[in-house]
Amino acid sequence: MTNDCLFCRIVAGEIPATVVHETETTLAFRDISPKAPVHVLVIPKAHHVDVASLAQADPGLAGEVLAAAATVADNEGLLLDGYRLMFNTGRNGGQEVFHVHAHVLGGAPLGPMLAR
Ligand code: AMP
Repeated sequence: MTNDCLFCRIVAGEIPATVVHETETTLAFRDISPKAPVHVLVIPKAHHVDVASLAQADPGLAGEVLAAAATVADNEGLLLDGYRLMFNTGRNGGQEVFHVHAHVLGGAPLGPMLAR
């Protein structure tokens, strides 16, 4: 837990979130500013800055985040038509919250991967 980390504070219950899935080690909640009809963030409860540092420090936990994201996609009815799973990483990747999170995006065609 990092006191000044927004997502650690959500894990601690200090900031409300619409939780859609939880395991012992992961939490999934709706993005506060959704970019698609379904937009859920999946995080490890433990603080890791980004997906690279998570994968290096605890590859098992990285796998649990991916498994939780797959469960969320299934629960949200995204498996048939597909969805996008995204980890923004660092400044050029557009990362704004430095507690690793997978974006699960779907519910409509999402268009090209990058704006042109
Ligand atoms: P990123 O740009 O990849 O770091 O994504 C951060 C995401 O966190 C953005 O899509 C925000 O809309 C989302 N976000 C910020 N604050 C909250 C919050 N309190 N609850 C849920 N999602 C949030």
